[in-house]
Amino acid sequence: MINRRSFLKAGAAAGTLAALTDPLSGTAHAAAGLRAAGDVPWLRTLRRIGQTNITEHDPAVMDVEGWANYWARVKAGAVFVSVTGILACYPTTVPFHRKGKYLGDRDFFGELNAAARKRGMRTIARMSPDLNWGDALAAHPEWFMRDEQGQALETPDTPELFQTCMFTGYMTDYMPAIMREINTRYDVDGFYMNGWPMFNLPVCYCAICRKLPPAKTPAYWEKFNDRVMELWKLYDGIAKEKNAEAFYFANMGGGIHATPNLAQVGAVAQWFQADNQGRGGQGEPVWGCTQQGRVCRAIMDGKMAANVTGSWSTGPLRWRESFKSPAEVRMWLNETAASGMVPYYHVIGAEAGMGEDQRWEKFGEEYFGWTAKHDTHFKNKRTMANIGVVIGQRTNLFYQAPNDMTMQRNMDGLYSALLEGRFFFDFVHEDRLELERLTKYAALILPNIALLSDEQCAQLRAYVEQGGSLLATFETSMYSNQNHRRGDIGLADVLGIHAAGPVIGRRGNSNPFYARIERQHPIVQGFTDTNWLPGAEYRLPVAAVENPVLTVVPGFVAYPPELSYPPVRQTTEPAVVLREQGRSRTAYFPGNIEHSLWIGGNTDLSHLLQNTIRWVAGDGAPVRIEGDGLIEAFAWETEPGFAVHVLNYTNPNTHRGWLREFYPIGEQRVRLQLPAGRTVQRVALLRAEKEIPFRASGDVVEFAIPSVEDYEVAALTAS
Ligand SMILES: [Zn+2]
Repeated sequence: MINRRSFLKAGAAAGTLAALTDPLSGTAHAAAGLRAAGDVPWLRTLRRIGQTNITEHDPAVMDVEGWANYWARVKAGAVFVSVTGILACYPTTVPFHRKGKYLGDRDFFGELNAAARKRGMRTIARMSPDLNWGDALAAHPEWFMRDEQGQALETPDTPELFQTCMFTGYMTDYMPAIMREINTRYDVDGFYMNGWPMFNLPVCYCAICRKLPPAKTPAYWEKFNDRVMELWKLYDGIAKEKNAEAFYFANMGGGIHATPNLAQVGAVAQWFQADNQGRGGQGEPVWGCTQQGRVCRAIMDGKMAANVTGSWSTGPLRWRESFKSPAEVRMWLNETAASGMVPYYHVIGAEAGMGEDQRWEKFGEEYFGWTAKHDTHFKNKRTMANIGVVIGQRTNLFYQAPNDMTMQRNMDGLYSALLEGRFFFDFVHEDRLELERLTKYAALILPNIALLSDEQCAQLRAYVEQGGSLLATFETSMYSNQNHRRGDIGLADVLGIHAAGPVIGRRGNSNPFYARIERQHPIVQGFTDTNWLPGAEYRLPVAAVENPVLTVVPGFVAYPPELSYPPVRQTTEPAVVLREQGRSRTAYFPGNIEHSLWIGGNTDLSHLLQNTIRWVAGDGAPVRIEGDGLIEAFAWETEPGFAVHVLNYTNPNTHRGWLREFYPIGEQRVRLQLPAGRTVQRVALLRAEKEIPFRASGDVVEFAIPSVEDYEVAALTAS
């Protein structure tokens, strides 16, 4: 059953595909892929990014021409070339910019930069502003982060390197000096900083930071964000001093956890660089990369976003120069492309690249070779989704969740239900709730978005008053944006509820609460032969409502079984509150239902969530896909028409890395509701590399994808 069809073979079938190849990108790539036609900014033409992350040793061992040939051969539109800040890769004159010990008199950066540019690739100057050495610490003690006792903070792997503080002159004197030195000597297209902003909010006791609000509070976060924006604008200005088209960007971290306010970043960034390189072995689901893509989409308004895929062995044990499972790398790149980001392939050091482990190299050629044939169908205009899932950065950063509850697990629980239900959804940032952004969605989901300002609550209220629907859970809006607990839920009037006491958990390992079915309703459809469903691990008790669909049966002893029975069999406390007003429907679960789904795996909870999402969102989904298997799907309006991306997660390693191989699924029947007036001429499968028949009737197009190995893109050419 397992299809081991090699990737190469798919590439060899390209002859049959001439008609599907984008003529524009074909020509462009003859000149190595970069010159944009007409007024299209060059950034918008990038479809592949390459990076060999330069080590100190590379000047001694790296074949510069071989490096440039490789990235040109895979049609990378841009490569990252290290300038650094920790170790200079060129003959710098900036004080404390220490030269690497294998650099000698060479201008290694200059050689790499020239070799890439000669081949028509754009170059990004990569810098590291986060660490410096003891001589800098001695001369500029004020540049460095301090612990509470005033000691400079070392970096764990390398105690000779110390962590610099972003609030100091290191960022306004030292880093600008390096940027200006690069600008005077070389041509580059952009400046990128790795290792900043930090992935966790910094905790520093230097002289400047002691005057800031306490670490890990919303008040500190505002100062942190102000500094990020101030530096971003400073560096962007320096980048443009030589070349008005050049720009600056920084490492935005991974997933839903970024530290800077992403809505603010999205307003200034031309390139969102996500550093979400892969997953490890500790129960991380495979969809970490698509979540990243959805985050980018929420804040970049279609501007350039890339996610780094590490070819190296990611996870809790990091073998930086060993290739990981090719199936895992392939799926991560698939997810990058499907979710609308630009694939970015990363290898560390020439010793991996051109020496001891060369497995990454052929893989990169095959994967990028395939995408290069189909560039035009990855040029997305907008998503076709009717559900918005609100992401709450303040909740992720500041909410004091009960016990071991985490917002990542909360999101993964909801995400798993959304995938099992095959819903089409976008992420929506909490600071982008303006009505004009929301009208696209029939429903918004608030997965325990605990911190919401009065203004954000008002925006959600306005959305509901306009006919929008909401699904909210647990402590959504129980706290202000400053993390102050409210007397009642901020959205109490919208959801028709009132908080009736503190959060209730369970004692020891007792049964969590149950939800008793009081009457029939679409959200309990399919539950037969039972009056009871699982509730959740925690709940925020809310006041009784009229005619509830589910009520709370309080938790009770689990062990010993002699005592495992409910002392109270029925209450009037609601386990869900449903409301219908005109077109608008709201549903509120007082339990942390999605988190309980994720940690417990209970299928009833997924079924209940899916039913409820379907009920609030109504019947108007623009895309439907029927068939077997666990998939994640995206539907895009593209430059040539439309594209439906299907990722096949039907795999024993979906919830624990890495994928070993793929298990193909059978026919997936797609039904697409086109915007009025659009007509489809052709449907082609980009992985299978063939055209398929379709049926059009009015604005509806239907077709079947016969099977999906790991990934398929149905590309619709439309007028
Ligand atoms: Zn500091």
